[in-house]
Amino acid sequence: MVLCPHCQSAAAIRTSEQQTRLVRELLLLCSNDACGFRFVGQIVAVRTIQPSYAPHPAISLPLVVRSRPANDDAPIPANDERAPAADVEPMP
Ligand SMILES: [Zn+2]
Repeated sequence: MVLCPHCQSAAAIRTSEQQTRLVRELLLLCSNDACGFRFVGQIVAVRTIQPSYAPHPAISLPLVVRSRPANDDAPIPANDERAPAADVEPMP
């Protein structure tokens, strides 16, 4: 979801157009009728999480190595009797 930079309401994508292989431009409209802000935003590919199996020679994005921080020990509260939740990676 894209938020309106003025009132922080959700903004709807009205149209979009591919600018380059890495950039798509969006025309957005704030859903708050009292605001009415219309603006242009961009979706830009900036990093690689999983390299392509069909890479284009012109595309080179830095590879992000996803690793856990050195201290990822989250103490379990003393009053929490539930089993620890499954370890799930956040969505990219
Ligand atoms: Zn707004």
